[in-house]
Amino acid sequence: MSEFLLTKMNPKGASWEFSGRGGVVAFTQYDIAAALSFGALPLPAYYLARAKYCEDHQAAESLRAHLLDKIEKESLQQDWKITKDNACGIADLLMAESVFDIQCKACKGLGYLYEKSGSINSSRRCEKCNGSGVGVLSQRKRAAMAKIALTTWHRHWNERLDFLMCYIKELEEHVVKHINEQCGHKYN
Ligand SMILES: [Zn+2]
Repeated sequence: MSEFLLTKMNPKGASWEFSGRGGVVAFTQYDIAAALSFGALPLPAYYLARAKYCEDHQAAESLRAHLLDKIEKESLQQDWKITKDNACGIADLLMAESVFDIQCKACKGLGYLYEKSGSINSSRRCEKCNGSGVGVLSQRKRAAMAKIALTTWHRHWNERLDFLMCYIKELEEHVVKHINEQCGHKYN
């Protein structure tokens, strides 16, 4: 259930649709905001949810500051030799990929592709993004954002970025679990 809900959450904050028995239930960003205000959600997870689903710019700033802190702590612990400038770039990169969502190039963020055969128009799920509409940045763009040379990026940063993205995935799992607990009744 929780993964299903995650795919149904609309990062643009407009609505979160669920099509189940009896039709479609749309979650608005207000429903999500209300769910977030109840119970205990770890602060960084709260910032992530507010930034991603409620278009809360203040929360986005707080999340970026938290990620920057996390990057600096990890760089000390794991001996990543980076400057403050690199760390800021990596924080921006994480925000771009995980909070603001990069548009899938193949379907331009729609999640499906139009096909025309003869006079019939049809659409099919975009395979590139698996229907999510979300894309990723190229390694070249990532390296440029982080202000790290591309060769260095290839050598060290695939793994390190994965590590940081896993951390954000964990925050996201907290959010989904929390919203399930707070809003689950809407489906029952
Ligand atoms: Zn796509």
